[in-house]
Amino acid sequence: MRKILSVTMCGVLLSPMLALAACGGGGSGERTFYSIRAEYFPEERKLCAEMEANIVNGSDNAWEEVRFFLAPNAYREGAKYAPVSELYAPAAYYNGQSYGGITFSAVGGAAGYAVCGEDENVLSVALEEPLYPDETAKLTFTFEVTLAEISHRLGVGRETVNLANFYPVLETYGREGFCDRVYAPYGDPFVTACADYDVTLTVPAEYTVCGAAEREESGGKAVYSLRAQNVRDVAFVLGTAFESVSAEAGDVPVTYYYLDDADPARTLAAAKDSLCYFAETFGEYEYPQYVVVQTDFPYGGMEYPMLSMIARDLREGDIPLVVAHETAHQWWYAMVGSDQYNEAWQDEGLAEFSAALFLDEHPEYGVSYADMVASSELSYRAFYSIHAQVSGAADTRMSKPLTEFTGEYEYRNLAYDKGVILFDNLRTVAGDKRFFAALSDYCARYRGAIASPADMVACFHRKGARVEELVNSFTDGKCII
Ligand SMILES: [Zn+2]
Repeated sequence: MRKILSVTMCGVLLSPMLALAACGGGGSGERTFYSIRAEYFPEERKLCAEMEANIVNGSDNAWEEVRFFLAPNAYREGAKYAPVSELYAPAAYYNGQSYGGITFSAVGGAAGYAVCGEDENVLSVALEEPLYPDETAKLTFTFEVTLAEISHRLGVGRETVNLANFYPVLETYGREGFCDRVYAPYGDPFVTACADYDVTLTVPAEYTVCGAAEREESGGKAVYSLRAQNVRDVAFVLGTAFESVSAEAGDVPVTYYYLDDADPARTLAAAKDSLCYFAETFGEYEYPQYVVVQTDFPYGGMEYPMLSMIARDLREGDIPLVVAHETAHQWWYAMVGSDQYNEAWQDEGLAEFSAALFLDEHPEYGVSYADMVASSELSYRAFYSIHAQVSGAADTRMSKPLTEFTGEYEYRNLAYDKGVILFDNLRTVAGDKRFFAALSDYCARYRGAIASPADMVACFHRKGARVEELVNSFTDGKCII
């Protein structure tokens, strides 16, 4: 995600860290497979779905129960953890308060099931018999998702319907068992292992489903489909008024769907050029397509594998940066996973830093690397100064759960701005040759996996750059900037 948040908003905000090793996710061996058949009914704002999940036990323990994260329930009435912060809620709920959620009518292949968790955010499924390491179990789910009227990851916006995080997804498994995570209004509260997907989505024929690969039509309905391998999520954007432009990045088709863009060719070029730049700089883009879609969204943009959402209300001048940031997430989040819940800086800081590298190579977008680093330093120092004045001390830890951030302003400054400053420092300390070699190594080594901060640091060490103390001083909040 990339938020556009002005420094001047700081006034609004004056109001157990889990190690990744304890709550990681597998990147090796056979993958879980989700087959989803869903139909969207616009009048009722409902998605009716059947899902078959072939679950792979990639852990060393036998499972008698498996747990799935239920992101749609963050939108339900009475949710303890709101999906959007108070700052953005008025804009996101454009038609007043609205609710959604997920309900199950059947779970097959199980001894029983229950919606549970701290915030009804978990589906616990009791297995009929223990599932041992490397074994697979087939479960089937019949469920309905009600979409709130909200411009957010999952919801009916003014013009578009965002379908992301709409299905139950297997939680990651760590030393303590399955890792329950509640939703959070800041950051991206999702940590998922890569899986394979086969999705069909039926919609009224007038809808375009951005993010799908194929379309068939019959009886006034359109059936869109997508098969995807080794992806962390699948997501779509629906609308009836999209225009599109396409290009090729090498042999990867890149499509930009838009509703209102003064210069769609420029936005498409930013997507295509940044995809090429990151592939050359960090490593190959491994998916068969890339889609950028302008949609109803309260912040700058949001990343999913093969698909980036950008907000409809972006200022024209901000579009290339947001597109570059979201495209960088195809490397830092989609291909190379990290613990977005407890180490948000690891993908956000690196995505923002990567956007700075790209923009520096493309002066036509009017933002240089030096501009980006200077802007991050300015923003971060203002944040630090305000916190120091108001509370006497600022909690500048970058490593902490999303639920411990005090607001959008703190999250923005620690995950993005301080992240950019950290990676700029790493570049200075390591030198360009070792710095870029380390990031390429990081990309190659952790594709399809979830890397910890220590894994990233180890990539620098292998290239001859000792950066552990530097990284820790940033993430622990001990360095002075
Ligand atoms: Zn981001």
